[in-house]
Amino acid sequence: MPMHLPRFPLPRWTPPRFPGAGRWRARAADALAIARARLPTDCPLCGALARGGALCGPCDHDVAGLLRSAAGTGMTWRCPRCALGLPEHDSPCPDCADRHTAFDRTVIALDYLPPADALILRMKAGRHYAQGDLLGNLLAEAIRHDGRGLPDGTVLLPVPASRSALRARGFNPAAEIARALGRDLGLPVRLDWLARTRQQAQQHTLGRLERREAAQGLYACAPGMRGRHLGIVDDVMTTGSTLHEIALALKAAGAASVTALVAARTPHPPADGTIARAEVRKSVANLRRQRE
Ligand SMILES: [Zn+2]
Ligand SMILES: [Zn+2]
Repeated sequence: MPMHLPRFPLPRWTPPRFPGAGRWRARAADALAIARARLPTDCPLCGALARGGALCGPCDHDVAGLLRSAAGTGMTWRCPRCALGLPEHDSPCPDCADRHTAFDRTVIALDYLPPADALILRMKAGRHYAQGDLLGNLLAEAIRHDGRGLPDGTVLLPVPASRSALRARGFNPAAEIARALGRDLGLPVRLDWLARTRQQAQQHTLGRLERREAAQGLYACAPGMRGRHLGIVDDVMTTGSTLHEIALALKAAGAASVTALVAARTPHPPADGTIARAEVRKSVANLRRQRE
């Protein structure tokens, strides 16, 4: 007879805040994440038994397959600079063709396509901050799979969220992913090295050119970047405007290298710049039906 283990729901809303100095606070959050990783939970994609909010075996296979061969997109090659899937090895990348990007290269964990996009949506719209553990671990796996790894002494910097996004969500998805990535790769994460110079409207309603203009001069970095290797961590990359602006600031401050580390890359900038939530829900429902 199959044994039914109790399942634990992933925590939602706001990550717990620990009192005390930054280093101890980070250690307490890490200890909680390690404990969370042992709990039996539902697979976030199909609902089968999994652990700590991670994917079950079959979903892990599907999602990792997407990452390694870009199956389902009909694309095999990726732009070495921005990781956009391309139809041929020598196709020019539409995102990099008409501009210089300040970051040196990009590593992504997933294409922002069904069913993997549901993981991002669950974290951001569903406010499951602990989903950052899974996305950070998938990104760490992608970096190991990438072969080139990261330069020694790389410091991880999450893209700072706007005040309104933080208020609405209670956490910064990029920071949660960066923490999990740092834990997995043993790299330091600094939340205070990047800041926004101003608050502005959300980007997801903007087109490509508008995004670039909106991001100009939006970020500033702390002093002391000279000669450092930095990894900018974000949840979703659409055109790369945000990452480009941050990399510009870091390079201007003397950074030796800047790598964009992103959980999910939009295969093509969506025409209307919005996330099709209904589509994501449909793809997850289909996956569940197939597995039943
Ligand atoms: Zn599953
Ligand atoms: Zn490119």
